[in-house]
Amino acid sequence: MAKLVMGYWDCPVCGNKEIRGDVTNCPSCGRARGDVKFYVKGYSEGDSLREEELNQFERLDKKKAEEMGSNPDWYCSFCNSLNSDKADVCSNCGATRADSEANYFDRLKKKQEEEAAEYAAQHANDPKQKRSLKPLIIIAVIVLALVSVFAWMNGNKTAGDLKVTDISWIRNINIEENRMFSESGWSLPAGAEQTGTKREIHHYDSVLDHYENVKVRRSRQVFDHNETTLEDNGNGTFREVSRPVYKTEYYTETEKRPVYRQVPRYATKYYYNIWRWTPSRDVTASGTDHEAAWPVPELAENEREGARTEDYRFTVEHTEKKSDPTTYSLAESDWMQINVGDQLFITSKRTGSNPYISDEKGNKLAEIRQVK
Ligand SMILES: [Zn+2]
Ligand SMILES: [Zn+2]
Repeated sequence: MAKLVMGYWDCPVCGNKEIRGDVTNCPSCGRARGDVKFYVKGYSEGDSLREEELNQFERLDKKKAEEMGSNPDWYCSFCNSLNSDKADVCSNCGATRADSEANYFDRLKKKQEEEAAEYAAQHANDPKQKRSLKPLIIIAVIVLALVSVFAWMNGNKTAGDLKVTDISWIRNINIEENRMFSESGWSLPAGAEQTGTKREIHHYDSVLDHYENVKVRRSRQVFDHNETTLEDNGNGTFREVSRPVYKTEYYTETEKRPVYRQVPRYATKYYYNIWRWTPSRDVTASGTDHEAAWPVPELAENEREGARTEDYRFTVEHTEKKSDPTTYSLAESDWMQINVGDQLFITSKRTGSNPYISDEKGNKLAEIRQVK
């Protein structure tokens, strides 16, 4: 059984204060205690106390604790008085306990609910309670504006007054040269001409050398003291409820830690000459007509043809407003359809993503890429 502390109550009828918990009738007016809330003198609900601080209260000895018990009083429905858990009939009016349903805590809860309801009723008409619609309207307007801007940005913009002023093509063949390189490595590639070998450091291995002692600071939680709260038993007594409080303690420990040393590992490195095909020059053909053709390079004995690249472009200008001409690159088959003097429609999203050649309604006809 938990240790008990004597509680006190105030008489709600005559206002007599600090009546001991083991007294069931007000010594001043003689009424049986009914609608009361028990308390401990000098203690506020929830306060945490150290062991030595508990001595300021009246702690019940074993005999007294057993006599009073720790079960809540029951609440007589007929005369509103509180009776000990040990009593079967109301000491005030003689009604039986079976005819009453509530105990001290039920009654306390009901009273608090009644007080809360009364408070709510009093404050129901406060102007503060009426929520303004203003913030909601502002949010709605902002959302609408964002949606509109996004829709507009995502919309199409078709330029219809464009005239082709130039077309051009360019085709390039990169010429590679077979050249000799002097290289080295851990193996000899196929076709290489070895010129020598050397023993060299290939890598380092970590090898355990010894252990050293290292002091390490660690922490642990150790018991420091108990904290005690006093809980209402609802019968004129309070019980002591203790929980341990821990503190962080630091200590040092000696640990063995391995120390490694770096040991070089040697291997044979090969030095060699090797012939490789390497990009060396470009041969380019270009024109401003539709007669695109590959150049025919003249190759030296140590040369061959490498990568081929090609690019097809056209330039447009606005016929109505003055602006700089714009040049686009596109696939050869689409480019073949475009002639100087053609009127074109070019459509792009307002977000500035890829433009394309379109009909006047903005339907895509050919992919293009603007040349910077
Ligand atoms: Zn009284
Ligand atoms: Zn009664």
